[in-house]
Amino acid sequence: MRILVTGGAGFLGSHLCDRLLADGHEVVCLDNLFTGSKDNITHLLANPNFEFVRHDVIDPFKYEVEQIYNLACPASPPHYQYNPIKTTKTSVMGAINCLGLAKRVKARVFQASTSEVYGDPTVHPQPESYWGNVNPIGRRSCYDEGKRCAETLFFDYYRENKVDIRVVRIFNTYGPRMHPNDGRVVSNFIVQALKGENLTVYGDGTQTRSFCYVDDLVEGFVRLMNQTETVGPINLGNPGEFTMLELAENVLKLTKSKSKIVHKPLPADDPKQRQPDITLARKYLKWEPKVPLAEGLKKTIAYFKTKV
Ligand code: NAD
Ligand code: UDP
Repeated sequence: MRILVTGGAGFLGSHLCDRLLADGHEVVCLDNLFTGSKDNITHLLANPNFEFVRHDVIDPFKYEVEQIYNLACPASPPHYQYNPIKTTKTSVMGAINCLGLAKRVKARVFQASTSEVYGDPTVHPQPESYWGNVNPIGRRSCYDEGKRCAETLFFDYYRENKVDIRVVRIFNTYGPRMHPNDGRVVSNFIVQALKGENLTVYGDGTQTRSFCYVDDLVEGFVRLMNQTETVGPINLGNPGEFTMLELAENVLKLTKSKSKIVHKPLPADDPKQRQPDITLARKYLKWEPKVPLAEGLKKTIAYFKTKV
C-alpha cells in the first residue's frame, strides 16, 4: 500500500514509518519539523519506498494513498503550550485536511488521539466510555480540546460521509527518539540522570502515569488500522501504573546515577492519575503490551547515552 504518515519525523511517527516500510509499504512522511527532526528519518531517506515532504497540516495537501495515519501535533506539554493557538489549529485543521483527503481518495484514516481527552479523570482506570474531566480554558486545553474536537470531526465524517476512520487514544509512551529537550517526564529524568543533574519531580511525585514502550504501541497502531471490527476510539497503553517518584527511582537505579531527586511546583491541571483500561484492545486487536518498564527504560537509556 501507499501510506501517508503526518508527523512522520517525530518520535512515534518515525517508528511507525520504520514499521510500515519493513512491512513492504510505500510511505509518504509529511512533517513541518516543529518538534520532529530529520535525524529521526535520515536512515530512511535513501529508501526508494520512502518520501519526505516538509509541509504544515493546517494547509491542504493531496496524495494518492490508501491509508493515512494522522500523528502531526506537538505532544509534550512545554511544546504544545509554546504556541497554544497553533496547537489547536494543528489538531483541528490537520484533522479536517486528513479527513477531506481520505474522503476524496477513499483512504482509511487513523487519528492519534490521546488519554488527555479524559483530562484529570474521576474514573480510574479510564475506559473508552468515560467522557472525561477536561478544563476547557486552562493551559492544557489547547491540546486536550483540540484533540477532542479532532475526534468529533472524525466521527462526524464517519457518520455523514462514510469515511473509513480509526481512532486510537494513546497513553504515555516512551522510547528512543524522544526529543532530549522534549520536557516529558521519561526523557527529562533520563537526560538529568545521565548528566548528573537533579531529577525534577513536579509536586510531591505521588501523581501516577502508565508508560508504554514505543514498539508495543506501534504494533497496536497497525493492528487497529488493519482490522474491520471496530473504528474505535480504543485505548492503547500499558496498564502498569507508577508514581513519578517510583519512575525517578527506577531511572536512578538503571543509570547508576548519583543525581538527587528535587521537587518543583506542580504544573496547572496536571492529572493526578492515569491508567488505561485496555479491555477493548485485548478484545478487538488481541493486543497487550509486552515490554516491561525496566526493559523499555534500559533501551531508552542506551539511546540517550548517544545523545547527551
Ligand atoms: P512528537 O512531537 O515527537 O511528534 C509530532 C510530530 O508532528 C513532529 O514531527 C512535529 O514536527 C509534527 N508536527 C507538529 N505540528 C505539525 C504541523 N502543524 N504540521 C506538520 N507536522 C507537525 O510527538 P509524538 O510523541 O511522536 O506524538 C505523535 C502523536 O501522538 C501526536 O499527535 C500526539 O498528540 C500523539 N500522542 C502521543 C503520546 C505519547 O506519549 N508519545 C501520547 C498521546 C498522544
Ligand atoms: N513530570 C515531572 N518532572 C518532569 C516532567 C514531568 O515530575 O521533569 C511529571 C508531570 O508533572 C506529570 C508526569 O510527570 O505529572 C507526566 O508528565 P509528561 O509531561 O511526561 O506527560 P503528561 O503530563 O502529558 O502525562
